[in-house]
Amino acid sequence: MAIATVNPATGETVREFEAHDAAEVDRRIGEAQSAFEALHDTDFATRAGWMRATAQIMDAEADEVAAILTLEMGKPLSQAKAEVLKCAKNMRFYAEHAEGFLADEPLDDPSSVGASRAYARYQPLGVVLAVMPWNYPLWQVVRFAAPALMAGNTGVLKHASNVPQAALYLDTIFERGGFPLGSFRTLLIGSREVKAVIEDARVKAVTLTGSEPAGRSVASIAGEQIKKSVLELGGSDPFIVMPSADLEAAATTAVKARVQNNGQSCIAAKRFLVHTAIYDEFAALFAAKMRALVVGDPMDAATDVGPVATASGLADLAELVDDAVAKGATVLAGGAAIDGPGWFYQPTVLSELTDDMRIIMEETFGPVASLYRVADREEAIRIANQTTFGLSSAVWTNDSAEEDYFARELDAGAVFINGMTVSYPELPFGGIKASGFGRELAAEGIREFCNIKSVWRG
Ligand code: NAP
Repeated sequence: MAIATVNPATGETVREFEAHDAAEVDRRIGEAQSAFEALHDTDFATRAGWMRATAQIMDAEADEVAAILTLEMGKPLSQAKAEVLKCAKNMRFYAEHAEGFLADEPLDDPSSVGASRAYARYQPLGVVLAVMPWNYPLWQVVRFAAPALMAGNTGVLKHASNVPQAALYLDTIFERGGFPLGSFRTLLIGSREVKAVIEDARVKAVTLTGSEPAGRSVASIAGEQIKKSVLELGGSDPFIVMPSADLEAAATTAVKARVQNNGQSCIAAKRFLVHTAIYDEFAALFAAKMRALVVGDPMDAATDVGPVATASGLADLAELVDDAVAKGATVLAGGAAIDGPGWFYQPTVLSELTDDMRIIMEETFGPVASLYRVADREEAIRIANQTTFGLSSAVWTNDSAEEDYFARELDAGAVFINGMTVSYPELPFGGIKASGFGRELAAEGIREFCNIKSVWRG
């Protein structure tokens, strides 16, 4: 795949970039290794100062950076700006909390292990490779990089090939905040070059956010090398609506949860499981709200939904819908791509789905919702858990027994009750099953790339 900015709103290639050759990749990994050695002699307060300065730069440049994100992957400009500001917030969060999250953890009763003193210490691993997707070009990277750098690790980034300008912005941002040169380096390389980077002795671990096939490949190379990996993969999150829910609020949130980021979010709600007692009412509300969305130029403030990021993404989405419709699905809204330049798809709602349709098991990466009628909470759980994914989930109910039941029974890395899934710096984020392993954000995220060293003193 060429490394290029291609505007998904027009299909036009804006700019192509030359990939780094092996010598340049080697040089950049070397810089990251030197920066790791330099960070060894810094304390949390120093790194926190640099991280806050980096956050300030991002805040100040939010408008111009947001325009890059929208140009390269098509999210509405207001959402792009919110993403930039969220990155700065995450930087400040780790500037404030890293030292506490990584403080020595003494054993309350060291005599139980025959020691006068015993504790666990968190220490950085070294250079970590981040393989990242285009859908949140800044956030996915910063959610890894901010805690990694605060822990004293350094990073090299292999970003998705369609967001090179975002990747190059990230190449210098931490240095501009004061971090040593090389603390975070972008490698402009294709996915085939990832193997050699993981195999490089200076690279100690890898984190990948992306699709299941990419995760499978990267984790197996890391496994072969006995290097730590974290995988944040796809999802097909259920959004369950029960009779006690506030239906109007549920339908409004359901639309937002489905079409945020033009429907291309791992944690977007993709399958809507609605109790039969309120199904018809909810379906009518939801479909009407989906039909009312404004699809168009993502630079325009009036736009709710921009284009799908790539031509192949649009083709994949259309194939899933066409397959379902050919096998008897009912189209309650949309159902087709929009003619003209750019890769736009109508906000779509499908119902009357059957097990032979691909959409039942596969992730829809675009503004397409599938609607299921469920008889009771047990059937909701059966359908919710039937995909191979287990990223997040949402449940709308005002019955506390039901709330406990869903929180316990959903196979997912998170359950949001009466809301939609959002990632917060304060909450651990990650999935189970084919959605990956490991956690980002919160204390768990910063500890993923640390050596947890037990220290025992007799
Ligand atoms: P993708 O094709 O897997 O690409 C992600 C990154 O992996 C890109 O940098 C890509 O590089 C690279 N890559 C692809 N195949 C690779 C391979 N075999 N070896 C090494 N690197 C490889 O995913 P995407 O289409 O960009 O993103 C969409 C997917 O990401 C969806 O499934 C979505 O749910 C998931 N996602 C998950 C999370 C989460 O937190 N769980 C967040 C966001 C997105 P190239 O661009 O050069 O191919």
